[in-house]
Amino acid sequence: MLQFHNSLTGTKEPFEPLHPPHVGLYVCGPTVYSDAHLGNCRTFVQFDLLYRYLLHKGYKVRYVRNITDVGHLEGDADSDAEDKISKKARLEQLEPMELVHAYTRGFHAIMQALNTLPPSIEPRATGHIVEQIEMVKTILTNGYAYEHDGSVYFDTQKLLENTDTYGQLSGRKVEDLLANTRDNLKQQDQKRHPSDFAIWIKADERHLMRWPSPWSVGFPGWHLECSAMSTKYLGKTFDIHGGGFDLKFPHHENEVAQNHGAFGCSPARYWLHSNMLLLNGKKMSKSIDPETGVSNSISPTELFEGGNPLFEKAFSPMVLRFLMLQTHYRSTLDLSNTAMLAAEKGYQRLMETHAKLHKLDLDAAATEPTGESRQINAILDRAYADMDDDLNTPNALAKLFTVANKINSLHSGRMAMTDIDRDTLVRMQATYDAFVHDIFGLQNETQGTADDSDTTGDVMNVLLDLRTTARENRDWVTSDQIRDALQAIGITLKDGKDGTTWKKS
Ligand code: AMP
Ligand code: ZN
Repeated sequence: MLQFHNSLTGTKEPFEPLHPPHVGLYVCGPTVYSDAHLGNCRTFVQFDLLYRYLLHKGYKVRYVRNITDVGHLEGDADSDAEDKISKKARLEQLEPMELVHAYTRGFHAIMQALNTLPPSIEPRATGHIVEQIEMVKTILTNGYAYEHDGSVYFDTQKLLENTDTYGQLSGRKVEDLLANTRDNLKQQDQKRHPSDFAIWIKADERHLMRWPSPWSVGFPGWHLECSAMSTKYLGKTFDIHGGGFDLKFPHHENEVAQNHGAFGCSPARYWLHSNMLLLNGKKMSKSIDPETGVSNSISPTELFEGGNPLFEKAFSPMVLRFLMLQTHYRSTLDLSNTAMLAAEKGYQRLMETHAKLHKLDLDAAATEPTGESRQINAILDRAYADMDDDLNTPNALAKLFTVANKINSLHSGRMAMTDIDRDTLVRMQATYDAFVHDIFGLQNETQGTADDSDTTGDVMNVLLDLRTTARENRDWVTSDQIRDALQAIGITLKDGKDGTTWKKS
């Protein structure tokens, strides 16, 4: 039986969807004001694994992952800090949508390189301003918010008077919530209580993104977009809400509060939180460390193309994906050169074994079950049981490696083909196919250059020539079109000083 650790109750619970076989899944997406770092990638890969496993089990999943393109303030506090996208656009003298578009495209390319499945719906906060304004109105009508000088604040004390939900998800007591609410004094004056948070923010001239509303020309609070968009696409109550551990508070806690304020119920029945990727023992983060003066983060490009002094060579996206599989999603994961080297070995061994398994001669196998077959079947059953147990990918992977020893023995002749029966071999092949490709989302990696002599290589030469000509003519539209179209079919181009190479994942 499928079970998940539910952050709402702090326990592992059997998963029972509201309307089986349908499952509604909402995951907080990226804030597209800069390139995603590898920590962000970890969270999205972990939820891709959840999505894949639900699909594999036959659920019909509506997977909603938003794009935050407005409302996420610097420092995550609803102070008079600037909106991250608005600020970056102002500094780079770009239209906010120009910036958002560029970083969304980059995000999609990374997600594709990591072979994550696209969500069913990818709604943008700026495309749902109307829904967010409607939600603010409902919360106000229900008496869970108040207006002050054009901004609207959620009344956390009112919620606490009527329910005991505020603080439940993050496991924080109200006093802690107060102590941890980082706000500047200006807004503190406007609030009735320090733990209240803005759901509509009056904007001054600095903010490039502003919309008219009944209260002021302004923009929605960051937490509001997820409440409005999850409700729109999945309903007032749906099955699973996910995100990184660091979003539990204030983001998810405030989402729960908003839904209670608007509809009198919690949005999701199961809350899943994926733990952090660490670098140098600390959470990977874009923000500048005051001690070192640099950010503790690595971009996917730096890892995939090499060049970062922490890593002795480049590592492929599939090796990174394998590294993530080796750790349970609720545990922290340390990124290091040693860990990547070990993951590379593990990935290669798994893929080689998978190829060998398909080369075994089914006709040479026994016709009746053998002792060895029974053992292998039991191990394969346990791999599924591991996945059912709160997506325990490291344990499931260990089971595949136990079976890998048998496959290698059969392949090398150390074990006779008659030690195993045909049905078991067929099941091993099907289970390996399912785990490697469908559930773990691992792909075989092949590489090529424009010099390849096969047909693909010739076609690539033609395309790369066209693109070079376009670039020489500064025709960036055509050059980007060629690159994006190839990316869409899984071919990544890399421009270097010796020309362009391509890689198929
Ligand atoms: P952001 O783009 O900042 O809104 O973050 C997007 C997602 O990445 C959120 O779900 C965060 O929880 C997650 N995230 C941020 N830093 C890390 C990290 N170091 N490890 C894992 N996930 C992270
Ligand atoms: Zn969210």
